[in-house]
Amino acid sequence: MSTIFSQIVEGEIPARIVYEDETTIAFLDANPLAPGHTLVIPKDEYERLNDVPEDVATDLYATVHRMVPAVEESVDADATTVAFNNGEEAGQEVPHVHCHIVPRFEGDGGGPIHAIAGDRPDLADDELDDIAADIESRA
Ligand code: AMP
Repeated sequence: MSTIFSQIVEGEIPARIVYEDETTIAFLDANPLAPGHTLVIPKDEYERLNDVPEDVATDLYATVHRMVPAVEESVDADATTVAFNNGEEAGQEVPHVHCHIVPRFEGDGGGPIHAIAGDRPDLADDELDDIAADIESRA
């Protein structure tokens, strides 16, 4: 079954599309956190960033890069929070990769990305060294 975002790509359900090219599309979030809240997606359906092929990832980032200033300028935002909920446990509800571009305004009452986490882990230096080495070996 195709995702709700694939249905937008196919024109089966309406959306306020603000940019489209061969491989990506951007449209307004239907339940915006701020005026101008925009989603950028690959047209093909991939559940998580981990599943996106390199060439599509390049296109996806190019569209994010294009849309951030367009969104900020259109609503006269002071800044933007740009983020992916990558996986269900991270809050991803629609299983089709999407980048949120959320306009931010001075005094808007929102928090930084750091506000998403629960209790911070207390990690010793050797644990941090092991984690860094493990990530580096997989990159
Ligand atoms: P996430 O929790 O990261 O999966 O975010 C999904 C986002 O998709 C939410 O911000 C929703 O408001 C938005 N959304 C869901 N359905 C639609 C739709 N039909 N058109 C536009 N945005 C949608």
